[in-house]
Amino acid sequence: MAYQAPIEDIIFTLKHAAGFAGARADGLYQDLGDDDLDAVLGEAGRFASEVLAPLNAPGDRYGTPFRDGEVTTPPGWKEAYRDWAAAGWNGVAAPAEWGGQSLPRAVNAACIEMWNSAAMAFGIGPVLTMAAVDSLTAFGTEDLKKTYLPKLISGEWMGTMQLTEPQAGSDVGALRTRAGRAGDGSYRIAGSKIFITYGEHDLTENIIHFVLARVAGAPDGTKGLSLFLIPKFLVGPDGKLGARNDLRANSIEHKLGLHASPTCHMVYGDNGGCVGYLVGEENRGMTAMFTMMNEARLAVGLQGVAIAEAATQQAIAYAHERRQGRPHPTLPRMRGREREGGPSEAVPIIAHVDVRRMLLTMRSLTRAARAICYATAVALDRSHLAGDPAARKAGQERAALLTPVAKAFSTDISSEVASLGIQVHGGMGFIEETGAAQHYRDARITQIYEGTNGIQAIDLITRKVPLSGGAVVRGYIEELRRTVDAVTAANDPAFGATGVRLAEATDSLARATEWVLAALATRPDAALAGATTYLRLFASAAGGCMLAAEALAAARQGGDESAEGSGDNGADKSGRIAIARFFAENLAAQAPALARIVTESAESVLAADAAIGAA
Ligand SMILES: Cc1cc2nc3c(=O)[nH]c(=O)nc-3n(C[C@H](O)[C@H](O)[C@H](O)COP(=O)(O)OP(=O)(O)OC[C@H]3O[C@@H](n4cnc5c(N)ncnc54)[C@H](O)[C@@H]3O)c2cc1C
Repeated sequence: MAYQAPIEDIIFTLKHAAGFAGARADGLYQDLGDDDLDAVLGEAGRFASEVLAPLNAPGDRYGTPFRDGEVTTPPGWKEAYRDWAAAGWNGVAAPAEWGGQSLPRAVNAACIEMWNSAAMAFGIGPVLTMAAVDSLTAFGTEDLKKTYLPKLISGEWMGTMQLTEPQAGSDVGALRTRAGRAGDGSYRIAGSKIFITYGEHDLTENIIHFVLARVAGAPDGTKGLSLFLIPKFLVGPDGKLGARNDLRANSIEHKLGLHASPTCHMVYGDNGGCVGYLVGEENRGMTAMFTMMNEARLAVGLQGVAIAEAATQQAIAYAHERRQGRPHPTLPRMRGREREGGPSEAVPIIAHVDVRRMLLTMRSLTRAARAICYATAVALDRSHLAGDPAARKAGQERAALLTPVAKAFSTDISSEVASLGIQVHGGMGFIEETGAAQHYRDARITQIYEGTNGIQAIDLITRKVPLSGGAVVRGYIEELRRTVDAVTAANDPAFGATGVRLAEATDSLARATEWVLAALATRPDAALAGATTYLRLFASAAGGCMLAAEALAAARQGGDESAEGSGDNGADKSGRIAIARFFAENLAAQAPALARIVTESAESVLAADAAIGAA
């Protein structure tokens, strides 16, 4: 089934779970009315569904052939990229001063989700360009900004982001690419990078590489890294393209998925003439790169949501079509269906309880991840747009706390959801022509790039949970508890045990958080042993509360198709409550066990040399 952008669902989540409406009430987004929001996202959804989605499967089959240092993108991709960029989609959140639209990051987040649902191999390129724009805007000199920002923002040129070398993956500080001062303010770069997304391609006439390297004499580790802008073609003072820079793509990788996104081995300075320009200060490259990485981490989280959404849509459609088996005779609802078709007629598999369980798991995990990602984007908006410094700082801290959760949870569930999507299809899921397998193959990389999910979990417990002595995370948990109280106060039987399960989940998160904060000081190895489980616990509580907040909002609006923001078959009141209840009773219900693993099971990890060998 072709992907259809779930616009109304997206808007409902933005407004009622992610805090868009609250931010608006606090004075943000004043220039963006509801009609504008609908129009922008509606048009993005149309482009994603009608133009990009049809390119996805053919692009996967065609790949990106590499010959003589050049990459060819699949048929139709160049034209689609040209039209996409011409419509201004690359600059949605970029500063108007440089040609962007200065729309909220939260709006761009929704757009990023849709581009990547339609064709993730297409969506990943612009994601990196947008991240590069952010870094250049924050750290570039006026000259660099003038020369490169307008064309990066318009999409006329694309950007890349380059950290990885064979010996320097998660440990970025181990990288060896060198930069020498040239005497004219520029640098000469020498070295190589691996796994570079869109390092070479034919979508744009110039490619602007953002490369981490080490200036001679710089300290070891990340403290000695600097960020350089390295254009494929040098740019003259008149803005025209000049000579080809001394850099090349040496080869491309053959991958499990994401086939239409070229992943390149890049080589710099074969002839000693690779010109690079410093972005920010020498040895402060990680600060500039972190600006890029935080944007890109949220964007990769959104890729997780994107694939999960596409896989869910496809599985639900298939479950309505595929007839197999007869209903279980003891189930009243199933007996009704049997009567409809006669006892011997096969029913659509959506009638089977276990299939319904899978579809609900897919739907609710996707929506929870979407809410967490959008909430991160709204926090980023607050960090940039809020009127007073304290509110900006609060936004920045909230975004910092949520970013690793948005990245790792959304991408973990993306693989889980895509796997369930295959399961719903049965044997046909394993056959490429259904497309379910492509979702599964494409989703897998999102758990690895932009910092593996293991690294995200470590970031969460060692840097983010301790922010302001734990005050940031405690404040967040208190906010979640207010949603739990609201569910309890609503006293609506349709919510089932939602309030009770979410109360247990938030209590479990609070308990595990205090344990982590204490363990970081006394037993950091024990805290690390539970990092990934803690992140899942965090997301289970947060996601459950956000879905409950959506359900409460739908209930307040009283309703179904006529309600503002409704329309998706889950955006109505009963659908929203059903999803919130399913998540709370089946997924957030696991929170107490997750908290026990965090607080009590470290030794089972630390003392297991006998099973896998000593470290
Ligand atoms: C398709 C694709 C596209 C990519 N695009 C880009 C790109 O555009 N730019 C770019 O710079 N890079 C890119 N990468 C590289 C990617 O970011 C790295 O692969 C990733 O950061 C992991 O590094 P690594 O592969 O060296 O794995 P390693 O760092 O060797 O990690 C292997 C395993 O060990 C774990 N591990 C490592 N160190 C620690 C630690 N300190 N604590 C706990 N666990 C640890 C990891 O979590 C992982 O599970 C891309 C990779 C792929 C496959």
